Amino acid sequence: SKTSEDLSWRSQGFSDRLRHALVNGLDQFVEEDTAEALKQLNTPLAVIEGPLMDGMKAVGDLFGAGKMFLPQVVKSARVMKKAVAYLEPFMKEAQKSGAQASSQGKVLLATVKGDVHDIGKNIVGVVMACNGYEVIDLGVMVPIEKIINCIRSEKPDFVGLSGLITPSLDEMIFNAKEFERLGLRIPLLVGGATTSRAHTAVKIDEHYSGPVLHVADASLAVGVLGRLKSEGAKYSKEVKAKYSEIRSEHQLKASQKGEGRLPLLEARKNSLKLDLSQVAPRPKQLGVVTEENIKVQDLVPYIDWSPLFWTWELKGKYPDIFEHPKYGTQARELFAEAQRMLERFMSNASIKPKAVYGLFPAASSGDDVVVFDPNSPTTELSRLHFLRQQEAKANQGPNLSLSDFIAPRGAKEDFIGAFAVSMGEGVEALALEFRSQHDDFNAILAQAMGDRLAEALAEWLHEKVRRNWGIESGPSLGIAELLDEKYQGIRPAPGYAACPDHSEKGTIWRLLSAEKAIGVKLTESFAMMPPSSVSGLYFAHPAAKYFSVGPIGGDQLAEYAQRKGWSLNEAEKWLRPNLI
Ligand code: SAH
Repeated sequence: SKTSEDLSWRSQGFSDRLRHALVNGLDQFVEEDTAEALKQLNTPLAVIEGPLMDGMKAVGDLFGAGKMFLPQVVKSARVMKKAVAYLEPFMKEAQKSGAQASSQGKVLLATVKGDVHDIGKNIVGVVMACNGYEVIDLGVMVPIEKIINCIRSEKPDFVGLSGLITPSLDEMIFNAKEFERLGLRIPLLVGGATTSRAHTAVKIDEHYSGPVLHVADASLAVGVLGRLKSEGAKYSKEVKAKYSEIRSEHQLKASQKGEGRLPLLEARKNSLKLDLSQVAPRPKQLGVVTEENIKVQDLVPYIDWSPLFWTWELKGKYPDIFEHPKYGTQARELFAEAQRMLERFMSNASIKPKAVYGLFPAASSGDDVVVFDPNSPTTELSRLHFLRQQEAKANQGPNLSLSDFIAPRGAKEDFIGAFAVSMGEGVEALALEFRSQHDDFNAILAQAMGDRLAEALAEWLHEKVRRNWGIESGPSLGIAELLDEKYQGIRPAPGYAACPDHSEKGTIWRLLSAEKAIGVKLTESFAMMPPSSVSGLYFAHPAAKYFSVGPIGGDQLAEYAQRKGWSLNEAEKWLRPNLI
């Protein structure tokens, strides 16, 4: 524990003490040691460029060598930030005489317009700052104008764009095209969950003459910046050549893929024939229900912990990861920090889990599902639109669409559900508070725990709904069984593989009056704001399962556009990943 800690390092000189504090992420004495360094070295710049940079270099080297892990690096950054915050008032003085801290370069980071998630970007920013880069973080939902203005006024050396959801891919293409039109050549780094090297190569790179690089995870970002700096044109050329090769391979594959694809009408003939005898019963209560007074405590048993470790690049499964030879120690420490964050959430009155769901009479009609008014079952409330698999099935299985899991009109009474849950505005507010205290570690941890709890809330609600629906009874399934989906039915989420069109969230929002019920807004790209939110549909038939729609043909694209009331261009924009 902290009190029985070995404090012998305190007897070393200030440089060694600062290095020790940085490498070990200890912020307890950092102000006092920085004060002493300032006294001895006279100027804040000398402190930053001397002992602080030396310490951060040690951190960077250990991280690069795989001897330190992401949570530790982010904690080191917290120590660094506190030291710099202490020096800031003195720096303002020094700047008047023209002195400037040297930097490895300036990086502009932004999550693109319409997108809200920025945990990965925040981690990347911290790692870059640790390695001596000056980071300008424009935050989330950043429109192109703001990015261009910032490039012009701040003259960064690199731009990093981040995106979580598929519409952001298009926004990134748009950004690259604008950069090109304006004659910019600044290196463009692309990252985030929705991005891939293939997409960067095929869709972004060819629109921009400057260097374009996909950065798969935070630990690689600094290496890429380093190579851009040291090898400049040569490295960019190499990457451009590689990406052009990926493009050619891709085009070849795409032409071959088309060959194994069924025409939509044939795929539809091969739809799943639903066993009508197994259609779920009429739910005890139909219509929209807002859950009140959900407590964070209620959700804790429903948390899936493994993704927390993945966020911090600790690879393994909970709880086995605690015994992992490489990650075990860090995993245990991170888990302990997460428990402290949970306690903060529990005692923070502004963190309020919110949930709304609705169950409705429904019938499939082609690849759509018609949703009816519970009070007037012949009145159409809305229509959900789904896509169908078009790949020829080697195993003779059906070409699935989610609509297959709902009984056709007139065949049998059936129902569908929709839900939206959120941890509310409080999570981002708490993260902001930590950030203003130079505590990026807890800011990122708060966001990551917000996401874990939002998923736990979805799991909690789904169980409640299955019971209301009458498809589950008896003792509660354990968390392991829940995570293995050992229950009847599914809760597919728009934007995921079985229903990749994010815009279907708009229909869920209308059915549930979700913005009014739980305060979650949809952005122009149909990202949910605040970010710790989850939504989806409920299917109760035992045959319902997750699948991937995969690549679709031009026939389905055109028909889907018509069903949605879109132009072909709009349809391409929303379905981009399925057109590859
Ligand atoms: N326990 C995980 C849950 C999230 S991933 C966590 O805490 O992070 C599983 C969820 O993703 C599912 O509940 C579903 O909503 C969605 N999902 C997964 N595969 C899907 C698919 N093929 N189509 C649609 N939604 C899918």
